[in-house]
Amino acid sequence: MSVSIRNVRKEFENFPALHDVSLDIKTSELIALLGPSGSGKTTLLRLIAGLESPTAGSVFFGDEDASHRSVQERNVGFVFQHYALFRHMTVADNIGFGLKVRPSATRPSKADIRARAIELLRLVQLSGLENRYPAQLSGGQRQRVALARAMAIEPKVLLLDEPFGALDAQVRRELRRWLREIHEATGHTTVFVTHDQEEALELADRVVVMSQGRIEQVGTADEVYDNPNSPFVYGFIGDSSSIPVQVEGDRVLLGDKRLALKGWSAKDGKAQLFFRPHDVEIVEGGEGAILGKVLASRRVAGLRRVELSVEDDGHVEIELPADRDAPVGSTLGFRPQRFKLFPA
Ligand code: ADP
Ligand code: MG
Repeated sequence: MSVSIRNVRKEFENFPALHDVSLDIKTSELIALLGPSGSGKTTLLRLIAGLESPTAGSVFFGDEDASHRSVQERNVGFVFQHYALFRHMTVADNIGFGLKVRPSATRPSKADIRARAIELLRLVQLSGLENRYPAQLSGGQRQRVALARAMAIEPKVLLLDEPFGALDAQVRRELRRWLREIHEATGHTTVFVTHDQEEALELADRVVVMSQGRIEQVGTADEVYDNPNSPFVYGFIGDSSSIPVQVEGDRVLLGDKRLALKGWSAKDGKAQLFFRPHDVEIVEGGEGAILGKVLASRRVAGLRRVELSVEDDGHVEIELPADRDAPVGSTLGFRPQRFKLFPA
């Protein structure tokens, strides 16, 4: 099922949690909503589910305007950060719950519900645990059960709100890979909320970067990492540094110095030069380069990370080969190889 969010605005007592959000999610796509806390990810997910209704705009499921359809009618599956399994029910009963509470006309038989639960347990690689209670499972196992429960109703769309957020890093990484495999096997249209960029970039077909109730950028992991379209996205995804510069015609000025930078384009005026720490070339002698004084230098995983103060304007980080010397107090000249200028 495809989902189309069209010009959605959501206000809570005059506070706009979402401004004018539009997004097309394709059938069988795995989308990650990525952004800092408070950027509107959960609100957007709840609007897709039908747990909130939009102040303006609409949500389409396929060709149908579902804006006024109830949660049940939309038939979505949910998983939240804090596993909301029923403590007094076995794993199998938890998984079968959504089927058991259906109106009698569409409710499968007890035996069929049980069989479906067993089948789903195999899918989430927990065969044999059907008679356990949630308290007898690890956190990671509980989230797998929660996913099996969400899938039991054969949802049109799966909605996952930071489902691994409460688990430790190792388990999160395992579940991430596992979720990707399950997704490929089942092909559910899936919207996955996270504030963890690594999780989003690794898992999703496309990443939706959100900030302050707006979508900043939508793209594949490579697109949002290699070609961020705003200072926010540049800063939020991956490591980056920025320096204020001045653009005048065909020149980029830093203080009273003219920089030799290739392939830039920007309008005249104040601008911000963004680059990633590993995207710099060291220029011996410093000709046409940015000069920075070494403030700190440390080895990190086979590289050397060097903090520099640049002219009068702050503070950048670059990466050098680990064996390259960069004594504190010395001066380095560098040129960003890949960079972007944004109007300041
Ligand atoms: P995220 O999931 O990205 O952390 P949310 O969608 O939960 O962000 O929240 C977005 C903004 O909307 C926040 O400023 C939050 O305080 C506000 N908000 C969310 N739900 C409500 C609500 N029910 N009532 C009032 N404000 C809310
Ligand atoms: Mg949230």
